[in-house]
Amino acid sequence: MVQLTPLGGKNEDSRMLSVKNMPIILKNANVPFVKKWFFGAEPQVLFLFMAIIIGVLLNMTDLYAEEIILPKDIIGTPHDVIRMGHPTLRQKAKEVADPTDPKIQQAIADMLATVNKIGVDQLVGLAAPQINIPLQIFLFQVPVKRVNGDVQQTLPFTVVINPKIEPINEEKELGIEGCLSIPGLVGEVPRYKHIKYTYQTLKGKKITKEAHDFHARVIQHETDHLNGILYLDLMEDIKRLYFAEEFKEYHQAVPTK
Ligand SMILES: [Zn+2]
Repeated sequence: MVQLTPLGGKNEDSRMLSVKNMPIILKNANVPFVKKWFFGAEPQVLFLFMAIIIGVLLNMTDLYAEEIILPKDIIGTPHDVIRMGHPTLRQKAKEVADPTDPKIQQAIADMLATVNKIGVDQLVGLAAPQINIPLQIFLFQVPVKRVNGDVQQTLPFTVVINPKIEPINEEKELGIEGCLSIPGLVGEVPRYKHIKYTYQTLKGKKITKEAHDFHARVIQHETDHLNGILYLDLMEDIKRLYFAEEFKEYHQAVPTK
């Protein structure tokens, strides 16, 4: 058993017994060092702090596990975004039977090429029907500039296939949206604030997530595209439809695309 004998205690012989002194060395030397760097935290607190950091890192790994990786031989071609009035935007898109089918991967590569051509910081979502591919697929992101609440986190561009949405409760909120298929305009749209959604990844893996606030709004906007619905259909007050430039000038906010 290790004896806890203080350094420099009355029994000078104990200094020679390194095993005996080890716990004291830890207590006397290491803890003040730790305290210096972690604002007085006790070792238990430090352990908890490290556990939180590891948890955050694991969570990030989970997010990036969905990184969009397509076979090298599949080259995407940018398409034009079709606009309101094109019949494809009013159809229900077809469910994807096999997300790993090369034809589906080609459609996703074309969507990504389209996003890149437009500019990744110029949009938060693109649904396959918007490039005239009537399939249940969309891409979305939650960029840093859209994160302003405690429950929101950024998300890199993510592929969502065959989504199903379920509101967590009835709470809705109004927010300004725009749409690449209705260029130049933005409007105020009510959306569920908290939802749960299920979808398949491009590897066919089934995922269920919760989304809140802006994240929830994007998922609802893009899923509507797969059902032939545009944000204008949901507006409660047509007086709250604006040209984006006038909205920015007179209402001091950046619209959602
Ligand atoms: Zn849209």
